[in-house]
Amino acid sequence: TRVLLTGGSGFIAAHTIDVLLKRGHSVVTTVRTQEKADKIKAEYKSYVDKGQLDFALVPDIAQEGAFDQAVVSDPPFEAVVHTASPFHFNVTDVQKDLIDPAVIGTTGILKSIKKSAPTVKRVVITSSFAAIVDGDKGFWPGHTYSEDDWNPMTTKEGQENPINGYRASKTFAEKAAWDFVKNEKPNFSLSTINPPMVYGPVVHGLLSLENLNTSNQRILYAAQGKFKDEIPPSGVHLWVDVRDVAEAHVAAFEKPEAANKRFLTTAGYFSNKELCQIIKKNFPQYKDLPSDSTPGGDYPEEQFVQFYYKTFDENRAGLAQLYKETSMLTFEAQGTQGSAAI
Ligand code: NDP
Repeated sequence: TRVLLTGGSGFIAAHTIDVLLKRGHSVVTTVRTQEKADKIKAEYKSYVDKGQLDFALVPDIAQEGAFDQAVVSDPPFEAVVHTASPFHFNVTDVQKDLIDPAVIGTTGILKSIKKSAPTVKRVVITSSFAAIVDGDKGFWPGHTYSEDDWNPMTTKEGQENPINGYRASKTFAEKAAWDFVKNEKPNFSLSTINPPMVYGPVVHGLLSLENLNTSNQRILYAAQGKFKDEIPPSGVHLWVDVRDVAEAHVAAFEKPEAANKRFLTTAGYFSNKELCQIIKKNFPQYKDLPSDSTPGGDYPEEQFVQFYYKTFDENRAGLAQLYKETSMLTFEAQGTQGSAAI
């Protein structure tokens, strides 16, 4: 399948490129700069050489018509996977920095596809558990999440702080996508992938550790000793392996039955306390980890929510296995030397 993947420089997208290429799909990925394209090119030289991987520059998804050119290709695209969206809390203006790129980026690409890429049959959008969860309900014991659950965040609440702003950005963008399909009746059907915290190997080249994506920063901070005296609350207690998230994005356009569905992809529960214990056990070189009596970071007392899982692969080994298997804590950042950087 000829696929357009947006946000190729991202943590999840890097794994998605890998799955796409290994499955034999022909990929064009959008990145913001030529430098970012060159980095990916160097990693996948053999695929670039045989014409299976190419690039399109889209510097800012928040601009009207940003994707007008990128959606046009020869041979034409059959599927689009849209992962690009800001996920960070380092913002001055929630609307401009988070909500606009998420919403305009999503509606913008759908408009461009409808206008100029009629051969596209399926669009897969990376949404989030943030678009499902209702923050006011806490852990909501006894509730089973389904596709009907939506974060009820209002525009006003979304403006209150960057965390709300991010959740609002994902909620409004996903809603806008479903509304687009309902109202505009395009040639394509939609699937959304709604992961909770995504962890796993960092395979995309980082310019520096400061550029580490938001979900993995928690692991970095733990290893750096920032949780030594008190472990912060875990927030969402659900996680998923990035490799499964990547598989889900690809399966969502490969499988006809994935049309018109939202997928909450998860591997199960985690707490920040467990995360620290796992690092301690498997990476003895990190000395400043919390002890068993350090306060914070545990599961809530309340009985746990039952989650309605729709995952393409529920059988991945647990979190402990993940960190043993991977080089999660030995980032290969440019100008730094592996794990010594932490
Ligand atoms: P990254 O920050 O690594 O990836 C974000 C991607 O979006 C990058 O390629 C980034 O480009 C691009 N991007 C952001 N803003 C713009 C913009 N204005 N114009 C063009 N490109 C832009 O994070 P993830 O890989 O984690 O996130 C990917 C997707 O997954 C996002 O939609 C995120 O909301 C979603 N998600 C992530 C979860 C997680 O725990 N990681 C959980 C649930 C959902 P650049 O690198 O050039 O900045």
